[in-house]
Amino acid sequence: MSHRVALEATEVAFQAAPGQSLLDAALHAGIELPYSCRKGVCGSCAGSIAAGDVTGLNGAAVRNDTCLPGQVLFCLCTPTTDVVLRPASWKRLDPSARKTFTAKVYSNELAAPDVSVLRLRLPAGQRAKFQAGQYLQIRTEDGSARCYSMANPPQESDGATLHIRHVPGGKFSARVAQLVPGDLLEIELPFGNVALATDDMRPIVFVAGGTGFAPVKSILDDMLKKRVQRDITLIWGAREPGGLYLRAAVGRWQKQWPGFRFVAALSDVPADAVGDAFAGRVDQALHATCADLAGHVVYCCGSPPMVSAVRAAANEKGLASEDFHADVFVPGPSSAPG
Ligand SMILES: Cc1cc2nc3c(=O)[nH]c(=O)nc-3n(C[C@H](O)[C@H](O)[C@H](O)COP(=O)(O)OP(=O)(O)OC[C@H]3O[C@@H](n4cnc5c(N)ncnc54)[C@H](O)[C@@H]3O)c2cc1C
Repeated sequence: MSHRVALEATEVAFQAAPGQSLLDAALHAGIELPYSCRKGVCGSCAGSIAAGDVTGLNGAAVRNDTCLPGQVLFCLCTPTTDVVLRPASWKRLDPSARKTFTAKVYSNELAAPDVSVLRLRLPAGQRAKFQAGQYLQIRTEDGSARCYSMANPPQESDGATLHIRHVPGGKFSARVAQLVPGDLLEIELPFGNVALATDDMRPIVFVAGGTGFAPVKSILDDMLKKRVQRDITLIWGAREPGGLYLRAAVGRWQKQWPGFRFVAALSDVPADAVGDAFAGRVDQALHATCADLAGHVVYCCGSPPMVSAVRAAANEKGLASEDFHADVFVPGPSSAPG
């Protein structure tokens, strides 16, 4: 049986079908709640139930360690009664905003032994509207979709640049190096809820693991184009130096923002061979190189365990939980609604 879902202190109400998550029901009704991974990892969709009861979808836990007391993950809950939600924020979706394109491969370069930088062009005259930090979905031959963050800033709207790590045995990513200019890909964008406030001038620390650098690059290039002046630190981690595959971009930001602080973290290189880099993981680098994170904002992007470790390190350094923003590269086919 379906249940009525209302947003507290608003006129907004919609139905959730049996077995449908609160997040999916909201998106289906044209209401955008904060979300990112949609798989119960990132914590972006955490909010409170002001009235009524929910249960975990397919026996899933309704909360994880990203939730504040009383919060649940809207992507994992389905209502068992009529409910009233208190989300962190909400807005009406613009139905014309998300579009599907047949994009053409413009170039495909190997930036590291296991990372392709794939540049896609939209059909002539078409433009993609997105915000820095959002992602697109590529439709694969079996009809499933894979998510990839745009690495280009939104001002470059005639295409999308993607940084794709080749996952051994991966259905899509392991074949991406074989794409050649002129190949066609079905893409849909934008997805993802960008929680970073552009008018927030507090010091910001970006923490990226591997190709988690892609959305960070989009955000930083966007900030550069908007001439944002802010205290910025970037911690970018990889196993070996080759994994930090776009050092030229970092050099550009250092030139444009004299105060820009860059920490390269190399986890598989002995301490006596890392040179200027930090020997260890990005969470350890955050802990070792940032004195006190109270009054800061942290934006982190990478694999689920990496994001969890960075969140814990940031909390230890005094960061307020609500100032931790993350995009989690949860592996596997996307579960985003069509
Ligand atoms: C919001 C979002 C944004 C993303 N952005 C990017 C991006 O910009 N760049 C990027 O490279 N990836 C990104 N990803 C991950 C990407 O969507 C795919 O999951 C990844 O490329 C693997 O797809 P595949 O088809 O090759 O592997 P699949 O065939 O789906 O998986 C094959 C096997 O590998 C495992 N696996 C898949 N990915 C990983 C991994 N990363 N680490 C370890 N094991 C894995 C799977 O669990 C499975 O067992 C993002 C994911 C999300 C949710």
